[in-house]
Amino acid sequence: MTIFKRNLWTLFWLVVAIGVLVLSFILTSMWQATLRAEESHHQARVELISQSVTNVLRTQELILEVAAAELVRQDLIDTTPEVLPFLDSIMEASPALAGFGMALPNGQLVKVTSTVDVSLMPNLLEQEASREGFQRALDSDRLIVGRTYYLPAVGAWIIPARKAVRNERGEVIAVMSAGIRADGEKGVFGNNLHTGPDDSVMIFREHDGYLQFMSSEGVTPDMYANAHRTPEERAVDRLSLTEANGVTIDELKARDVPSIYYNQREGANYIGGAWYSPDYELWIISESNIRTVWRAFLERGLILLMVFLALLLLLFYLVRQIERAEHKRRAALMYQSRHDDLTSLLNRVGLIDQIQQLVNRDEGFGVVLLDIDNFRGINDRFGQEHGDKVLNEFARCLRKLASDQFGASRLGGDEFAVISRIREPENLLAFCNDLLQRLAREMASGPLRMQLGASVGAAVFPAHGDSFNSIIRSAHLALYQAKRTRNDVCLYQTNYEAGYLRRVHIEQRLRGAMSEMHLYMAYQPQVDVRGRVVGVEALARWDDEELGYVPPNEFVEVAESSGLMVELGNYVLDRSLADFRKILDEVREPLELSVNISAMQFMQLGFAERVLSALKQYGVHPHYLTLEITETVFMSGFEQVVPTLEQLRAAGISLSMDDFGTGYSSLSLLRKLPIDELKIDKSFVDNIIDDEPARNMVESIIAIGKNHRMRLVAEGVEDKAQFATLVGMGCGRFQGYFFSRPVLPEEVGALTRARNS
Ligand code: C2E
Ligand code: MG
Ligand code: MG
Repeated sequence: MTIFKRNLWTLFWLVVAIGVLVLSFILTSMWQATLRAEESHHQARVELISQSVTNVLRTQELILEVAAAELVRQDLIDTTPEVLPFLDSIMEASPALAGFGMALPNGQLVKVTSTVDVSLMPNLLEQEASREGFQRALDSDRLIVGRTYYLPAVGAWIIPARKAVRNERGEVIAVMSAGIRADGEKGVFGNNLHTGPDDSVMIFREHDGYLQFMSSEGVTPDMYANAHRTPEERAVDRLSLTEANGVTIDELKARDVPSIYYNQREGANYIGGAWYSPDYELWIISESNIRTVWRAFLERGLILLMVFLALLLLLFYLVRQIERAEHKRRAALMYQSRHDDLTSLLNRVGLIDQIQQLVNRDEGFGVVLLDIDNFRGINDRFGQEHGDKVLNEFARCLRKLASDQFGASRLGGDEFAVISRIREPENLLAFCNDLLQRLAREMASGPLRMQLGASVGAAVFPAHGDSFNSIIRSAHLALYQAKRTRNDVCLYQTNYEAGYLRRVHIEQRLRGAMSEMHLYMAYQPQVDVRGRVVGVEALARWDDEELGYVPPNEFVEVAESSGLMVELGNYVLDRSLADFRKILDEVREPLELSVNISAMQFMQLGFAERVLSALKQYGVHPHYLTLEITETVFMSGFEQVVPTLEQLRAAGISLSMDDFGTGYSSLSLLRKLPIDELKIDKSFVDNIIDDEPARNMVESIIAIGKNHRMRLVAEGVEDKAQFATLVGMGCGRFQGYFFSRPVLPEEVGALTRARNS
């Protein structure tokens, strides 16, 4: 079936070719049949006319013989011209006769029927038209048919039939002479034997080529006066006859059936039948212009041709319909393969196509990639169905806002792209910022009334990549950067490349670092208002052989984005508890341990159980442990987090809010949180001396903390003034370089003893 569809037109032309072949075959046979029919028509007509002519002439011969016998019997063969009534009565038997009579051997007509005016009769031997025929009658015993001519004595064109009358000695005593009408309305010599304008019936004399009789359109009897075929013409006639039949003219003459011939005269083609009458030496010919055959052929052939053309047209229409349907189907498939089912935007394949085309045109353009902020949270909280609605709405807004660009597409998930006409980096950046703002407005006023943000990465062709792969990669790097730095829009910069490569490198090395124990923990003491060490914060450290020292901020983030965080978190927890157990044993006074927990780790199912079993494993009482979390933990839903927090607290573990004040959580949210400690971020402590707002912020945090019976820890205390100010504000715990940098676990004991003694 597919072969048929693919070669539909070939098949069509094959059918046309076969059709034409069959049609030509049918038409050829039809032509042959028409020709044969015409041939039979001529044959039949020649036969019929020949019989009639023979009959008529025989009848004349008989009449002449009867009349001659009567004349001899009545002894009327003399020179007196007179009308004999008994001749009239004999003539009545033959209506074809114009008149007849008896002529003397000298050519003078003497005894006639009443139809002949004897005074007008010429001497038959002297008159040019009758001389030859009369002479031959004198020389012959047979009926002689003379040349057709006009006889004023009877007022008609006549075909003379003559027969000599002889005495016992064989001498001619008279010549019986009859005039058969050649211009009769009916009868064998009537001008109505032909069937149309291109058809004729002719009788020629073999003897001298004179036309004896002709029935044809537009023929008047005057033509008999000098109508005869020249010897050359007759030679041509004979040739066409002999050629068509493959026999000699004598053999043809001897035939008792008519012969068919084809011939060409004066630029026209004729078909005819001819028969020679040896008795009267006449050629009886039935002939038509080949046009008549064509006409008959076309009458039937045209119908066939029309039917054929109609069928072809129908077939053509069918093929066209099938082709169109196929075309539509293919277009639909093509559309499907290049468009996203959910949003009807171009999909990844469509985008690749679009960019490839633009790259081939070598015109500048911008690639803008968008990633909806926290889309996973939306999906988790409201379900996939709602998530789909959000994607659809986002797609609608994007399509609307990017309508003057090359187009929008969806790459999958919550990632979208706009291919922009803008090729200058600064303009593209402005466009992206504007697009984000308009998107936010559009989404807020749309049917879902959503507050939705997105991260945007942009790159321009060819400045940021001169091939499909490189431009897409650059845009992705920019998007990656935007997401990482939580910056709304990032335009590609070459250093992103290095940053990206470094992250990939860190990711690769980090896996090995955990198994090869290149990762270890440092501990930074936390002191009370008197400067005594009351606890330590465990901080991860990594000295890599290839990368050198990698700050925890950096590798924690890589671990979070590469799925290594849970493993890293477990590693940190185990190492810290193991170290802490040793420290406790060494210090022999109550110390507390703070461990940083990443949001991703915290969201893990069974996290609380994991912590409790680790505590048991290393023999550390839960009261000694504080888990530091950040506000990002609450980003994916407050309700989901609280049960875990409460489970941990119920077990006796404390919870601390790290970097407090830098995130987005509202103070009202804080009231609901089951939190034991607030860590005042270093950025506020840094400015606490000179910066009024920073100081106010710290005062508020301390007030809130006290209000909720929370412990307050100030981090990043670097000098005495900061310490004194914080003590003055009511903060109870401090951590910072002013007291100690993070130290190796072996050093914690000595440090504690030195400060606390
Ligand atoms: P953090 O939890 O807020 O840790 C405090 C950071 O401030 C530490 O940096 C510490 O060295 C630094 N710091 C303390 N006092 C001072 C000071 O007086 N001056 C200055 N300039 N810095 C001070 P560090 O170790 O580079 O850690 C950075 C961040 O990396 C941490 O911030 C924490 O968020 C993360 N981190 C470190 N270790 C871990 C870990 O084991 N697990 C997790 N999840 N995160 C960790
Ligand atoms: Mg911390
Ligand atoms: Mg902190």
